[in-house]
Amino acid sequence: MLLYKVYRRRGLETIVCVNFFGGANRKNASGYRAGNKYALSLKEVYGKINIMKRVVIVGGGFAGLAAAGILSRRGKKLETVLVDRRHCFNFLPLLPDVLGRGIPAELMAYPFKDICSGLKARFIQDIAHAVSPDGKSLRLGSGLNIDCDYLLLSCGTETDFYGNISLSESTYKLDSVSDALKLRQAIEIGCYDNYLVAGGGYTGIEIASNLSLFLHKKRRRSRIIIVEKSPSILGPLPEWMKAYVTDDLAACGIEVKTGLFIMETRAGRSVLSDGSVFGNSIVVWAAGVKTPDFIDRIPVRRTPQGRLKVDECLRISGRCFAAGDNICFSAGQGCLRMSVQFAITQGESCARNILNDINSLPSIKYRPFDPGYIIPMADDRACGIILGRPVRGILPVFTHYLLCVWRNRGLKNRIRLALLLLKKAVR
Ligand SMILES: Cc1cc2nc3c(=O)[nH]c(=O)nc-3n(C[C@H](O)[C@H](O)[C@H](O)COP(=O)(O)OP(=O)(O)OC[C@H]3O[C@@H](n4cnc5c(N)ncnc54)[C@H](O)[C@@H]3O)c2cc1C
Repeated sequence: MLLYKVYRRRGLETIVCVNFFGGANRKNASGYRAGNKYALSLKEVYGKINIMKRVVIVGGGFAGLAAAGILSRRGKKLETVLVDRRHCFNFLPLLPDVLGRGIPAELMAYPFKDICSGLKARFIQDIAHAVSPDGKSLRLGSGLNIDCDYLLLSCGTETDFYGNISLSESTYKLDSVSDALKLRQAIEIGCYDNYLVAGGGYTGIEIASNLSLFLHKKRRRSRIIIVEKSPSILGPLPEWMKAYVTDDLAACGIEVKTGLFIMETRAGRSVLSDGSVFGNSIVVWAAGVKTPDFIDRIPVRRTPQGRLKVDECLRISGRCFAAGDNICFSAGQGCLRMSVQFAITQGESCARNILNDINSLPSIKYRPFDPGYIIPMADDRACGIILGRPVRGILPVFTHYLLCVWRNRGLKNRIRLALLLLKKAVR
């Protein structure tokens, strides 16, 4: 027989578990098991004190926060726990602008602590390590286990170096605000002759055009080269868009080398697959993404990129859902594009299905609405598709930044960002 006491200390719930043999176990200030045989699952304890279901969200990006928003508004007696390896939400679409337009990085980060206190959710800064086979428990990097009734996986993706550790150590990437700051610092300090961007997708093109703006402002004359392995940049996008971007890159003095890849880069010397060598160079790696290792360890169906295959209701299995870039939602012949819009609507859809499940209602199928996409370049030209119509020029640039202000976190961040962009536009 066991006695339970639950009380609050410094705002955190502490569970004291006392067994008959006198071994008191007050292990986790945040209320989670740490693998001790006397530790109780929170479900058992919560059962006694009549607290309802616990939803654990892994990853506080667009998808995770959209889900947390719905759960906090509609979920009565629901405990929402957000786990993220970072302490701040990172607004990724503006990262390239840290390099060229000089948008301060702090406008792209917002503390999870503040977001979660508004949402009445609990935040744990830790790295998710593994999910139990039944999906009812999450193991964190710190060794803690969290029991959950529902699990939502929304970990996004990260740069893929395809297992090449030397490349990952000698190049720069743009996955987070801290990556953007590191890269900005490197280009401020170093006077490189060659700026190589690996990957001719959206991200590579945005990075290259921002590097060009940066060098233009600093009046430095260096080569910027996009190195793309496929025969053309922008993969499956329409030909008119490829032509528009190619012309624009040429106008900015950015070279494009297709059908090649970067073989190695060491001490500023980069070698391409055709044997050409670039001395005094810096490499930014934007040649593909993959799901985080944690997602790769979950034994479910996935794509070669590691994206989790979900059903029409965004369920992986049982009470485990997934949303955002870490999933492959089948659309046409492939997966739905990775984008903020889809991440948000998928997060919301998962939250609704979790609430439906709790209320014994049927799950709702996810129906994606595609408002389009934009490829913004730092010379104030962009192209894309908005509501099914091709757009190019300054209008999509304006739309892109308007969306960035709207989607950003924190009123102060939004206002500062809007004022800054207005000031730059007037100039
Ligand atoms: C440079 C750049 C520019 C972009 N521009 C655009 C654009 O203009 N328009 C557009 O629509 N999309 C754009 N995107 C894509 C867009 O940002 C993503 O589609 C979107 O962020 C996906 O949201 P998400 O919630 O799935 O993942 P993310 O926003 O990536 O969030 C994932 C979260 O999970 C956390 N996490 C990961 N692994 C773990 C773990 N093991 N444990 C705990 N936490 C973990 C991360 O810290 C992160 O907070 C851009 C992306 C980049 C990188």
